[in-house]
Amino acid sequence: MNIKDLHNLFLKCKSVSIDTRKIEKDSMFFAIKGENFDANTFASQALELGALFVVIDNAAYAIDDRTILVEDSLETLQELAKYHRAYLKLPIIALTGSNGKTTTKELINVVLSQKFKTKATVGNLNNHIGVPLTLLSFTKETEIGIVEMGANHKREIAFLCEIAQPDFGYITNFGKAHLEGFGGVEGVIIGKSEMYQYLAKNNKIAFVNLEDPIQIEKSAGIESFTFGVNNAQANLKINSIQANPFVVIGYDNFSVESHLIGLYNANNINAAVAMGAYFKVEEKAVKQAIENYIPENNRSQLLKKGSNEIILDAYNANPSSMAVAITNFLQLENSNKVMILGDMFELGEESQQEHKQIVDSLSDQNQSVCYLIGKYFYETKVVSDKLQFFETFDVFAEFLKTIHFKENTILIKGSRGMALERTLEFIN
Ligand code: ATP
Ligand code: MG
Repeated sequence: MNIKDLHNLFLKCKSVSIDTRKIEKDSMFFAIKGENFDANTFASQALELGALFVVIDNAAYAIDDRTILVEDSLETLQELAKYHRAYLKLPIIALTGSNGKTTTKELINVVLSQKFKTKATVGNLNNHIGVPLTLLSFTKETEIGIVEMGANHKREIAFLCEIAQPDFGYITNFGKAHLEGFGGVEGVIIGKSEMYQYLAKNNKIAFVNLEDPIQIEKSAGIESFTFGVNNAQANLKINSIQANPFVVIGYDNFSVESHLIGLYNANNINAAVAMGAYFKVEEKAVKQAIENYIPENNRSQLLKKGSNEIILDAYNANPSSMAVAITNFLQLENSNKVMILGDMFELGEESQQEHKQIVDSLSDQNQSVCYLIGKYFYETKVVSDKLQFFETFDVFAEFLKTIHFKENTILIKGSRGMALERTLEFIN
């Protein structure tokens, strides 16, 4: 079946699904092979559960004319998404970067939805499957699409841009994430910059944070909408930034008092405000949207437990987000500070050095007690009265049973695999 005919069938469906556990009635189901399973085996189940059509790539699972046999289901999903995107012709904003994509995406979405019917990536569906699913969630009613693009190796962003064909792009930062797959920070810069190459080649527009020299350098020559602090050249001028702990930002005609913690979130907010300015959303509405946004999902959340105040940033960690979180935490004026930090994953050869760097920086401060959890931190163990090392979370949990937090300010941060939100049970 050619892609146009498949698209016509897709238009009869309410949604797209790749998982029979979450399938919706009248959806189009794509049977994609995963590492541990082959979704072709779920084709008949998908139909029983209400799918209108099932795209399969193994003829053995064909049932009737509701099963559409293709060469490769994943490639077909990607092609269909690209076709649908071209069919809709809506403006699309793409976001990538090492840290802050999801937060920035959510902020952009709340800002632009003040004026437009927007649709954005749901949660963190930002890879070669998530991006097509996001594009296929856009409809004729959607006025602006916002697409988060993640990558852990080179050529991935170029590939995702070919599918999504964004009109606007923003790279949150070039940090130390997924160093393993990219082959170091230089690799990250090359990999993320593929978005700029796409924008340059297609005469599209970049949003550029003038506080980031790499963004300036790598976006040179691309039409851009810029933002910068006390920078008269910027399209959006930022006059002041404060964080204690919530980020408050002053612009020429208004200010925003966010519910986000951490100076790094100022960049994320500024990007969203810049997009609001570019798309001419009323300033009052921009302010309201940012001020009403409350983060979820263990991302820079401020919680109260007993007499303690907790900054829960347990969603993920890598050397750059860890460093900014620590700097930010140390800047807080609170006393009785405690940091509970977990291993950072996917760092490849640089793992030991990066963990050691964090440990060194923690040894140099005398404001906070630090509990370091996981085998990578444990390997860099040093003797210090401020630092304590625990090889596993279970060992740490035993320790937690023996102490009582009282009037502490606590930062909790680690890679997703460490699931440090488990610490919360022990704080009361
Ligand atoms: P993922 O790769 O998991 O999709 P992401 O890029 O979508 O991550 P977020 O989920 O928005 O990022 O934020 C994850 C964490 O990154 C935050 O909790 C915070 O610690 C850190 N972070 C957020 N924004 C920035 C930023 N602009 N610069 C550096 N670190 C940031
Ligand atoms: Mg994300």
